[in-house]
Amino acid sequence: MRPKPTVLTPATNSSVASTAISFLILVCICIIGVIGWTIWEERADQLHESEITSENMSRSLARHADDTFKAADTALLGLAERLLVDGTAPAALDRLHKLLLLRVKELPQLQGLAIFNKDGVRIVNSLPNKDEYSSSADREYFIFHKTNSNPGPHIGVPFQARSSGDWVIPLSRRLDSADGQFAGAVVATISIKYFIDFYQTFDIGEDGAIALILGNGVQIARRPLLADSLGKNLSKGPLYALYKRGNGHGSAMIRSTQDGVERLNGYRQLTYYPIFITTALSKAEILASWHRLAIVRAVIALVIVGIITLLGMRLVRQINMRIHAEQEARNARDALQALNATLEKLAQQDGLTGLANRRKFDQAIDHALSHAKQSASPLAVILIDVDYFKKFNDLYGHVAGDECLRQVAAVIKASEKRSNDLAARYGGEEFAVLLPDTNLDGALVVAESIRKALHALKIEHAGNTAGIVTVSAGIDVLTAITEKDSAASFVSAADAALYSAKASGRDRIKFNQAAPAIDQA
Ligand code: GH3
Ligand code: MG
Ligand code: MG
Repeated sequence: MRPKPTVLTPATNSSVASTAISFLILVCICIIGVIGWTIWEERADQLHESEITSENMSRSLARHADDTFKAADTALLGLAERLLVDGTAPAALDRLHKLLLLRVKELPQLQGLAIFNKDGVRIVNSLPNKDEYSSSADREYFIFHKTNSNPGPHIGVPFQARSSGDWVIPLSRRLDSADGQFAGAVVATISIKYFIDFYQTFDIGEDGAIALILGNGVQIARRPLLADSLGKNLSKGPLYALYKRGNGHGSAMIRSTQDGVERLNGYRQLTYYPIFITTALSKAEILASWHRLAIVRAVIALVIVGIITLLGMRLVRQINMRIHAEQEARNARDALQALNATLEKLAQQDGLTGLANRRKFDQAIDHALSHAKQSASPLAVILIDVDYFKKFNDLYGHVAGDECLRQVAAVIKASEKRSNDLAARYGGEEFAVLLPDTNLDGALVVAESIRKALHALKIEHAGNTAGIVTVSAGIDVLTAITEKDSAASFVSAADAALYSAKASGRDRIKFNQAAPAIDQA
């Protein structure tokens, strides 16, 4: 029978390989995680730095706007005071005109200065020709002062000056008569170009923006200046909402409702006027250099992960090959062991009958003797010899003789009732049955059953007086084994009994005379 190969244990194989794969995946995840986290942190840092930059710029620009309006406002207060002291006589207005010209020259942000009476008629302005008077009764700031007794400064919506066509922001104050009635207004028109020129000097990138916005959401200056920038109401937009939510300053990433560009807006409210300014840096420009670096890092990470994966796959392949080789070696060893066991078994088996051979029997009898000695148990042996077998061969031929021996062997084999019983071919047409823990009575029963079973087969043998194949048997039983007992003496005693059986007529069983005599004729 072919030895059954040892079943490989795929669990061992796959567990080492899967541990290696898990480890590699973990390493790759760690590398991607660390590089991803670094990239993300750098992005956050970049945005945070830009946030600080835009807030700082807004603080400076708010200060500048405050100073610009304050200087103009101081000029307005001076004019109101002068008007109160000097009155509106023609000589006084002449002097006032000169003063207005001087102030406008002094302050670059001023496009013009003007004083209106209670009907909105300009009584003096900063134009070179003082007679170019016209009415401003329809202007927003005039209507505001006429209907509001608030003496503070008012910044109105931008408009195009009638005199020059320039866009200006009006800063005005109400004039009251001695009895507290509305007497007119003093107005400084501040050039929007002044702010825009100033804002142009800052580096805010290609897509950056700066905007000056009134507290009510009306935009009064912007870089870059779009066609509809000035006077535009932004009170519905996200930037204005940010301003309303905050406490005078703050920042947020907002997509512009004016040009659609997403920018980081840092805004700040002016200290003295209800105006806020925002400096906005384009998100794309802020993150451009980070973006380039992130791509380089991601590529490096992918290359590292790729190399690790390739090396890892090689490693896993080698582990698998080694495990496979070890399994092959184990298989070969197991197959060899199985083969050896088979050979060992074959070496102890008789080829013709399949019974244990003489070699096995000799080993078994030695072992049984020492066991019987130790356990003080009886040991019996039966030697069986086919009667007139030479004649059988002569009569029926060797092939029939062989077949007859196989049938006799099968009968004897059937006598092995217990696990330690052993039936063997002792040599030629002689057989032996070793029966541990068996006394003479037991051995006689076994021998007799063999003899009778063979009778029952009725194998024809014309050369035998019985007409069928018969056997003779000799028994020896050891009950108290001593040092002088040996396998040879034991078998020899059984052989002597067998000889006695032959001599007394064959087809019978004899036992060593030392044992109790039961003659089975
Ligand atoms: P006895 O009754 O006294 O035992 O007479 P016997 O003829 O059986 O004894 P003998 O020892 O004279 O003859 C034994 C014969 O058994 C001789 C041999 O040809 C035959 N024999 C031994 N081994 C085999 C075998 O394997 N096959 C066959 N066919 N015959 C065998
Ligand atoms: Mg013989
Ligand atoms: Mg014989």
